[in-house]
Amino acid sequence: MFSWFGKVSFVQFTKVSDFAVFLKGGRLMGSKCKGCGATAFPPRADCAECMSDEFEYREISGKGTVYTFSRIDAAPTGFEDEIPYTVAVIDLVEGGRLLAWVGETIGQDKVEIGMEVQVVPRIFEEVEQIKVYYSVEAPGTTWGKEPN
Ligand SMILES: [Zn+2]
Repeated sequence: MFSWFGKVSFVQFTKVSDFAVFLKGGRLMGSKCKGCGATAFPPRADCAECMSDEFEYREISGKGTVYTFSRIDAAPTGFEDEIPYTVAVIDLVEGGRLLAWVGETIGQDKVEIGMEVQVVPRIFEEVEQIKVYYSVEAPGTTWGKEPN
């Protein structure tokens, strides 16, 4: 399951491996601690506040603002065919931060720090090793989700 997201190597990640399953279904899931109610994105199996390992998933909207961004002209191995592309770090309104590709509804040259965006889960068609990722789109962008 988590292999859709890259290499599987850490026990902590396998505890939240359903995260990738939700992503594949079009859902962005954070976590909520059952002990103290602390929330996190990406989901944390072990609470940073109270150390509880009891958590539940909660869906987040994916709304956020651009914290920073970078255009990639020298790609890491496996992404040579994708350059140039732009990635952005997004501060989510529900808390948490993620790194995502800037999508077509914004455009590589239009992204700005502080702009409001919508994070959208995607299925990667082009890169065999990574099946799910996020893209950063204009506010109001919708996408397909599996029913609840
Ligand atoms: Zn907690």
